[in-house]
Amino acid sequence: MDRDYSNLLALRGLVLYLLPFIIVGWLIGYLWPVLTIALTGLIVWHYYYQQRLTRWLWKSRNLLPPTAPGSWGYIYDGIYRNQRRSQSRRRSLAKLLRRFREASEALPDAAIVFRSDGSLLWSNKLAQFYFGLRWPEDAGMRLSNLIRYPEFFAYLNNGDFSEALTIPSPMRESLDIEIRVMPYSDDQFLLVARDVTQGKQLDTMRRDFVANVSHELKTPLTVLQGYLEMLTDVENVPPAMAQRAVDQMQQQSDRMKNLVDQLLQLSRMETPSHDVFEQVVDVPALIEELRLEGEKLATDKQLTLTVDVEPIKVYGKGDQLRSAMQNLITNAVRYTNAGGQIRITWREVNNEVEFSVEDDGPGIDSDHLPRLTERFYRVDPDRNSDSGGTGLGLSIVKQALQHHNSHLEVNSKPGLGSRFWFRMPAGLVVDS
Ligand code: ADP
Repeated sequence: MDRDYSNLLALRGLVLYLLPFIIVGWLIGYLWPVLTIALTGLIVWHYYYQQRLTRWLWKSRNLLPPTAPGSWGYIYDGIYRNQRRSQSRRRSLAKLLRRFREASEALPDAAIVFRSDGSLLWSNKLAQFYFGLRWPEDAGMRLSNLIRYPEFFAYLNNGDFSEALTIPSPMRESLDIEIRVMPYSDDQFLLVARDVTQGKQLDTMRRDFVANVSHELKTPLTVLQGYLEMLTDVENVPPAMAQRAVDQMQQQSDRMKNLVDQLLQLSRMETPSHDVFEQVVDVPALIEELRLEGEKLATDKQLTLTVDVEPIKVYGKGDQLRSAMQNLITNAVRYTNAGGQIRITWREVNNEVEFSVEDDGPGIDSDHLPRLTERFYRVDPDRNSDSGGTGLGLSIVKQALQHHNSHLEVNSKPGLGSRFWFRMPAGLVVDS
């Protein structure tokens, strides 16, 4: 359809059309009337093709232009060519837009595009979820009306986007959303938001952890420092008092060592290891060892320890299982009042094997149960730190059990006692 059509060609066409009329008009002696008829015909011809063009442009659904001779054919083809070009440009733009939208939906972040006057141009699904936006109903609305937080309003108004802003999600207060805004054309801005709840929680946990460790170490260190100051003037300290000081210092340094040992144990356990079939653990022998240790601890309080053990061995990490069982037995001994009873069992239950330590001690209020395995959590911080505990025992148990596809369960009633237990999956039981 493409044709070259020069001015020269147009002129040649006109001359070729008029020439026969000029010759005939001149021969019959009516040059001007004949020429007028010829030019009128030319106008009618142009008018006809102009009408066809108008009809094709406005009424026809056919993309192909009607056929036309001469200069009109050239015009029709030119328009058709331009239409085709812009259609394919439109198509590739639509494709690009679709790809951009698909890519932005795949982003792990919420994205919002808005104008400098704050009106919403576009948002992805995650943004609709975080901020409760409705799409396309909210298109064109002001963002500060849609996300109604004074801090967000001030942030947008201020126009300084060098720092990120963190606000709670309007849909779920428990989600913390970090917002960043970037200008990306004269008049448009891209807002990217991400969920930073977990990061913030981890930050708080890390801060709490450091504060707790420092606090736990500070108390025995202060005691040690006090006694050391007293002993600098050792000649004036009565021997009985000096002995007491040394005993106390020994006790406090044991406490610090215990804390550091437990922290090291916890950090070792944090390294994931999938080799749970590392070794065969002779749990009955292990329990016997722990019973003897427990009895030594329990003599002052005259506790009775009974043991009911089935001869079942399991695959696992010996040191971690030892730690878990030892902590549970030590706690029972530590928290049970004088004359109390402690019962340790290891037995098969529905193809699994259950370890349980039951005592008739003070029991634990149900409010505390969900938090017992948190690091440094104690039911009664003042009383429990006197008992020599660090608040890390049950978090070590939790971590050790996690490595064995198991978890700690607690049944406890204040005044009636507690039962701490866990079950090891059938797959870890060694066939006898
Ligand atoms: P701690 O080193 O203080 O014993 P744990 O993590 O082992 O720390 O235990 C957390 C808290 O759970 C303890 O401080 C104690 O208040 C409570 N607890 C644990 N075992 C028992 C139990 N057998 N009877 C009563 N309370 C217990």
